[in-house]
Amino acid sequence: MSKTFKDNFHRPPAVVFRQPPNLKSLLVRAKLSQSFSVESKGCFKTHSKRCVTCSALKETAFVQSHYTGQKFKLFHNSTCDSVGLVYLINCLDCKKQYVGETGGELRIRHRGHRQEIRKANTPLGKHFQSCKNFELIGIEKLVNNSKRVREEVELNGFIALTRSLLWA
Ligand SMILES: [Zn+2]
Ligand SMILES: [Zn+2]
Repeated sequence: MSKTFKDNFHRPPAVVFRQPPNLKSLLVRAKLSQSFSVESKGCFKTHSKRCVTCSALKETAFVQSHYTGQKFKLFHNSTCDSVGLVYLINCLDCKKQYVGETGGELRIRHRGHRQEIRKANTPLGKHFQSCKNFELIGIEKLVNNSKRVREEVELNGFIALTRSLLWA
């Protein structure tokens, strides 16, 4: 797992979109956002606006470190119901990024984020007292050793940000 993950993360950032011309793929594709092809892995919404987590999710096939500018292709699918994820929160106001992980469902963890913001009792919660807008992206499934997966994500340019920022 670890090796595969690392190899994947070191792949060049080019995202290849293949579009086999059959009706089914066209129909499925129509339901997805335009930046997204049927073959792409990535983060996507599964619910309407009534789902708070889906409302915060960004549908995307790649993530970008605001610190190094590097783009990384996503190799797993994730939704608000996914269990065990490394995820990214992009602050849309100041561009800071936060990488977190959860062993449970992303939507449950996001309920926790909203609580932290209401109570301003964590660095993340305090951050969003001044900044208001963010997006949430599932990056990678936690498979075996969660700590290692997260550390590798961080090494690949994201954690630079968690360390330097701490949502100060
Ligand atoms: Zn949802
Ligand atoms: Zn911010």
